[in-house]
Amino acid sequence: MSEQYDVVVVGGGAAGLSGALTLGRARRSVLVIDSGEPRNAAASSVHTYLTREGSAPAHMLAVGRAEVAEYGVRFQQGRVANIERTEDGGFRLAVEDGQDVRARRLLIATGLVDKLPDIPGIAERWGRDVLHCPYCHGWEVRDQAIGILASGPMAVQHALLWRQWSEDVTLFSHTAPQSDDDELERLAARGISVVEGKVTGLEIADDRLAGLRVADGRVIACDAVVVEPCFIARADLLGCLNVEATEQEADGHVLGTHIAADPNGSTEADGVWVAGDIADGTDQVVSAAAAGVRAGAAINVDLVEEETRQAVAAARRAVLA
Ligand SMILES: Cc1cc2nc3c(=O)[nH]c(=O)nc-3n(C[C@H](O)[C@H](O)[C@H](O)COP(=O)(O)OP(=O)(O)OC[C@H]3O[C@@H](n4cnc5c(N)ncnc54)[C@H](O)[C@@H]3O)c2cc1C
Repeated sequence: MSEQYDVVVVGGGAAGLSGALTLGRARRSVLVIDSGEPRNAAASSVHTYLTREGSAPAHMLAVGRAEVAEYGVRFQQGRVANIERTEDGGFRLAVEDGQDVRARRLLIATGLVDKLPDIPGIAERWGRDVLHCPYCHGWEVRDQAIGILASGPMAVQHALLWRQWSEDVTLFSHTAPQSDDDELERLAARGISVVEGKVTGLEIADDRLAGLRVADGRVIACDAVVVEPCFIARADLLGCLNVEATEQEADGHVLGTHIAADPNGSTEADGVWVAGDIADGTDQVVSAAAAGVRAGAAINVDLVEEETRQAVAAARRAVLA
């Protein structure tokens, strides 16, 4: 017999654990299954989460797991490999270790994968001195030499944004479209220099970024480099339920992929909610957690509705009997 839960949460990051906390406190039976690869694993600390400023990502999640356990939520390390709908409208999940669990509702909070520029060394230094979000890392590199690796139409905007944290910002044109006169004027007015040519590698000294190497052989000194990853929703599991990821756009620019959902995370598939980065690649830890809380509450309401319908039907049958 498979174990049966009101809700199985796939993904035990900020979004999934916050959904589980809400559901556990609503006296639901909940299992969280997590494969242990949170998006910010490469970073040493979490920022802009009030009361948790500077916590290590792994520590925050350990505290979260202990908190949900207080409300009877079960946590299991593992990777969900497949999901199928059962005849009663619920779900059967296959975990990679061969285990089989059943759920009335699903909360999918599997996050996203950052597709990084294909330059040797970038992936290895991701979250250390290869950065993407000024609100996550800007303070830590304030007043340092910051390089902006341009790979899309948002590059100039990013350079102007990062200028808030340092007067020493250089835009590397790399593979981005040519800046127009208006953009060049704005960059120059803010003292941002532009280096033309493709970036071919990183210069590392004493395990720290020292500069960016350009195709013509020059090395331009930098303490940190900002990249623009493409956000790829970890959405394969939803494909099992015929829900496909679509492009996420902001200001007419494609950021990557996501699972479209209503503000509470309800997807086009009955009984399936999403929360966190899988739904919105621009989320941060605190907003992913908030999305998890909203989805958890919406799932509970949905279950209450179902239980009320069943109770009414049973009461009517009892009257007729
Ligand atoms: C380098 C870096 C630094 C960052 N720093 C900050 C910061 O300082 N402050 C901030 O607010 N935000 C920061 N962020 C953003 C932050 O990491 C995300 O917004 C946040 O982690 C999203 O939470 P989540 O729960 O949606 O996803 P995640 O934290 O990525 O959690 C998803 C979980 O789902 C699991 N999972 C995936 N697939 C499966 C499966 N099939 N079966 C079981 N489990 C599965 C994964 O293992 C993972 O544990 C940073 C991001 C990066 C890349």
